[in-house]
Amino acid sequence: MIRTKKQGLLIVLSGPSGSGKNTICDEVKKENSNIWESISMTSRKPRKGEEDGVNYYFVTKEQFEKNIDDGSMLEYAQFAGNYYGTPRKSVQEHLDKGEDVILVIEIQGALQIKKKLPQALFVFLLPPSMRELKKRLTDRGTESEEKIMERFETAYREINELSKYNYVIINDKIENAASKLSAIIQAERCRVDRIEEVFLDTLEEKIHETLVDKNLENKSLDVNKI
Ligand code: 5GP
Repeated sequence: MIRTKKQGLLIVLSGPSGSGKNTICDEVKKENSNIWESISMTSRKPRKGEEDGVNYYFVTKEQFEKNIDDGSMLEYAQFAGNYYGTPRKSVQEHLDKGEDVILVIEIQGALQIKKKLPQALFVFLLPPSMRELKKRLTDRGTESEEKIMERFETAYREINELSKYNYVIINDKIENAASKLSAIIQAERCRVDRIEEVFLDTLEEKIHETLVDKNLENKSLDVNKI
């Protein structure tokens, strides 16, 4: 068997608020045990049922700004009046272990990463329609009407950035969208330009050498005989 040594893949999943990023990410993680999802930091207040250190690291605006200043954020953005960002250290640690890391983040942050790490994988999730997006944002029941409208307007602007991504998936059905994302990740893992080193086991190398030598002995080509 040929083994390859490689760093994990950095997957950036973006899309408008309400496009279903977290649901799709959860589905994909169920099927792929080698994917680690980064836990973001935010200055937004926890919603009902959200836990610190599970859904987000919930911090104050001042604490967030301190993290920006000391360079510990890989990316960050202000969205709907709050800070959101990815802590750098844990992402690097998981990538170095060879695990794939997924960031479920909005567009400004994704574009910051694209500038610094263009070799990451950028996937954009779209809702089937803007009408459906509005319905999903409203049905969630987590935001006020004013906040919903703010997120909806932001979604229109965000969709204009679609061309900066590598792949786009329309989230019409959770299973379909999740299996597309899994397929994209599988394909990316097989890309030759993502492989750092290819090596054979010592024993296999020996067998391979023996076979090659034997073949050369028995079937060596002599162009003069043709
Ligand atoms: P929510 O308030 O609905 O949890 O998140 C609002 C938006 O912020 C969503 O689009 C979500 O994906 C995005 N978001 C969550 N974590 C991060 C992060 O670490 N960085 C950035 N740039 N966006 C994030």
